[in-house]
Formats: sequence, structure tokens, C-alpha cells
Amino acid sequence: VDYDVLILGGGIVGCAAAYELSKYSLNIALIEKNYDVADDVALINSTIVYDGCESNNSLTMKLEQMGNQLLDEVTEKFNVPFSRCGSLYIAANEEEQIRVEDMYEKALKGGVQNLYLLSGDEARKLEPNLPKEVIKALYSKNAGTICPYDLALSYAEVAFDNGVNFKLEEEVVDIQRLTRGFRVITNKNKFTCKLVLNTTPGKNYSIDNNNKEVPEEAQLNLNYFVLDKDFKGDFQHVIFSVKDEDEKIYTLPTLQGSTIAAISSRKKMNHFETLDKISYLLKELEENDVNNFFQTPYYKEPIIIDDSFIDIGYIKVTGKHYAQVTMTPAIASIVCETIISNMNCKLKKHFIDKRREYFKFSDMSDEERKKVIEVDKKYGNIICACHNITEGEIVDAIRRPLGARTVEGIKRRTGVTMGACQGSYCLNKIISILARETDKSYTDVVKDSKNSKMVLNRIKEFDGV
Ligand SMILES: Cc1cc2nc3c(=O)[nH]c(=O)nc-3n(C[C@H](O)[C@H](O)[C@H](O)COP(=O)(O)OP(=O)(O)OC[C@H]3O[C@@H](n4cnc5c(N)ncnc54)[C@H](O)[C@@H]3O)c2cc1C
Repeated sequence: VDYDVLILGGGIVGCAAAYELSKYSLNIALIEKNYDVADDVALINSTIVYDGCESNNSLTMKLEQMGNQLLDEVTEKFNVPFSRCGSLYIAANEEEQIRVEDMYEKALKGGVQNLYLLSGDEARKLEPNLPKEVIKALYSKNAGTICPYDLALSYAEVAFDNGVNFKLEEEVVDIQRLTRGFRVITNKNKFTCKLVLNTTPGKNYSIDNNNKEVPEEAQLNLNYFVLDKDFKGDFQHVIFSVKDEDEKIYTLPTLQGSTIAAISSRKKMNHFETLDKISYLLKELEENDVNNFFQTPYYKEPIIIDDSFIDIGYIKVTGKHYAQVTMTPAIASIVCETIISNMNCKLKKHFIDKRREYFKFSDMSDEERKKVIEVDKKYGNIICACHNITEGEIVDAIRRPLGARTVEGIKRRTGVTMGACQGSYCLNKIISILARETDKSYTDVVKDSKNSKMVLNRIKEFDGV
């Protein structure tokens, strides 16, 4: 047998499960079809940490609650940016008030704690910029914001350092059952293993003919703005309107100090419709305050941990849900418990529960900067002038375990190109560093996948670019 456990899919759930399982004496590999792990995690680098109070599904509510509680320990251990800023679900008329009170009752029954029903005035004391029509609010102290990519990457890096074999750019094409265990066939290899954990969306595999689409009622559209840091009239908490079951307008303070304003809806909306809807929460909002506009699909399909075939060694996590990052620590811990109780293994004696150190120049004092530059001059060379990101940080992002191989990988690991210039100042420099460090030619550097070259061709043959 090649492996004890094969994890299929290197999204945040696959990476978290790899981390949990790497605590045990198991031979594990993770197979991911993309160039990088957690490629599908939210595009922006702040995501809401929910607590279950908004959910009508009792299992989802439990997973969110449990994940939310586990996040304190995980983020502290891995030094992942996380702020428990709290949230307010606001009601501006009687109908909305009933909705908010219902949420409160259901959440209390479901065991969610630290929830409070506030009057309009009490809510405005917390958030003076709330619309004056607000008459009631459900206040949660549990909610917050987190950097989802940092979390996913921490799980993956620590799993890697504890012996998990990451197979990137390898696509699973079939999973076949053997008399004992499984054969997993990829576009490059065939592996045998005792147990399969499948976190990829359904496919027509021999073991599991489950090629289902997300049901239409669970598919929504998310439109969101990233606002300029100077925008006034913003909020310190995550604010949700409860106008409609299927239309949620919300804002969140990002961990980088700007605001995201979003609307999830059945309807596809353009920039101007989005602006119009969002101005309900952000009265002062004007066109000029918007730095970026994104449109993306959004799902509310419950997550299912299906262990009905665990006796033969097959377990899968299915579903697409807008709070999956929040649920991840819970999903990983449940999946790991199920797997280890079905395998003969022990806790490792020398498990390293720590992410390798890294330096974030913009967060350091001048004294600290001086010290690190003395050790490595590259930390004295600013590449991203918007966010003060140095060459040293970019090189580290490439040389770390599971290091970046693409421009997108560097962007997500370091934050380059995310400033006001959107990469117009630094992109060429990043491509050069990536080419130098990975021993590629400048024209072979890709954005995120095989066919996404950043520079198509040279137009003239000079000695250097
Ligand atoms: C717009 C948006 C906003 C969100 N906001 C929030 C939020 O505010 N709070 C929150 O908690 N959550 C949020 N989420 C949820 C969360 O970001 C995602 O649901 C989560 O990243 C999904 O992780 P996953 O590991 O389950 O799935 P995926 O990331 O989809 O992982 C599956 C992996 O399997 C790989 N794969 C697929 N097929 C194969 C194959 N055949 N062989 C090998 N590999 C394969 C894929 O490349 C992928 O990496 C949001 C999601 C979206 C879309």
C-alpha cells in the first residue's frame, strides 16, 4: 500500500484535515489539481467568521458554532490575523424585528451564546452610523473577521512539515475499490491506500457516482465593493440587514483597515444596482469611495460529512456553503476523529505544532526592521510601495514549505498588488523575482495555472528585460 490515507482536494478543508491527521503515525498524501493549495478560498483577504445564529439548518449551526470556538486557539497558534469584532443584524421595521427576534430564539435553542437583543438606540451606541430607522438589532459578540488564505496555508505548511506529501498539479480521475483499500488514479499516477478522504466536489468516480450540481435554490450571487481606506461613515462591527431571506446586504471592517460592502442575492446585479442597494447601510457611500468591485457565485448548500462508508475506508465532505471557512476547524476535527477511530495509529511523539516564522515588514518597528535587514538585505528592498512589502518577504513566500509558484500565490501570501496601484508599480518586479527564484524565464511565469502566462512573448530580443 502506498499510503494509509489519501486526501483528495487541497482546499481549506483538505488542508485542515491534513493538519489534524498529521498528528498521528500515518503515511498521508494530499492530491490537488491546482498549482497551489486553497486556490478557491475567498479572493479578498478578510472573511466573516459566523457563529451559527443566522442559520436555519441545525447541523450548519452546530458546525459554525464549533468552528467559531476552535478558531481562537488555531489562529493564536499559527499567528493568523483574526478579530472578534462582533456583528449586528439590524431591523428597521416590524417585519424585520420579528425576523431578528426569531433568529435570536432559534440561536438560543441551538446553544449559541453571547447574543443580545438591542433596541435601536442601544445599537446606535455601538455603531453611531447605523440608519436612524433601525428599531431592533441582534448583537453577537462571537462573530469576527479572519484572513482565510493565511489560515488555509498555515494548516498546509504545518501538515507539510509533519510529513504530509502534497501532490500539486495532479488531478484525480478515478477512485476504485480494491479487496482491501482503494486505488486512486490521477492524470499522472496510480496510488493505493487504506483510506480515502474526498473533499473534492462530486465526480463520476467508480466508488462514488455523485456528480451532482449545487441545487438551484442554494445558488446565489455575491457582489461586493472594497472601499477606500479613507471612506468615512463605516462600521467597527459586521453589519447585516435582514430585509429579505435571500437578499443579504452587509458590511465588514477588513483586517487591513478598509471596508467591504456586499450584497448576496438571487438576482445578478451590476455595479450601479449594487451601489444603490448598499447605500441603505452606508449612507455616505459615493462612487469615488469604491476601489474594487467583484462579482462571484455564492452558495448556501449544507455541508455534509458523509461517513456512511467508513467501514470500507471511504469518507467524504460535500456541500458548498458561505460559512465554510468558519466551519473548517470543526469539520477537520470531526473527520480526523472518525478516521483515527477506524485506523490503527498513535499520536506522533515529535509532532511540530508550529508554523515556520516569517517577517511582515509593515508590522515591524524600525529597530526590528534594522535587525532583519542586517541578516538579509532583501528585507531592505521595498517592492510593493502601497503596503511596504519587501523583496525578502516575496523570496520567503517562494522558498517556504509549499512555496508560491505563481503570481497569484505570491499575492495571496504577501498581499502584493492589493494596494491602490493594483500592481501597476510592482508586478514586473514580482515576475522577475519569481523567474529568478524558480529558475524560469520571464515569459514562463504564470498567474495561477498552466495557461495563464503573465507575459506572452518578448517583443524584441534584448539581453535583459
Ligand atoms: C464568494 C465567497 C465568499 C465566502 N465568504 C465566506 C465567509 O465570509 N466566511 C466563511 O466562513 N466562508 C466563506 N466562504 C466559504 C469558503 O471560502 C469556501 O467555501 C471554502 O474555501 C471551500 O473550501 P473547500 O476546501 O471545502 O472546497 P474547495 O476550496 O473547493 O476545495 C476543493 C479542492 O479540490 C480541488 N479539486 C477539485 N477536483 C479535483 C480533482 N479531480 N483532483 C484533485 N483536486 C481536485 C480543487 O482545486 C480545490 O482546491 C465564501 C465562499 C465564497 C465562494
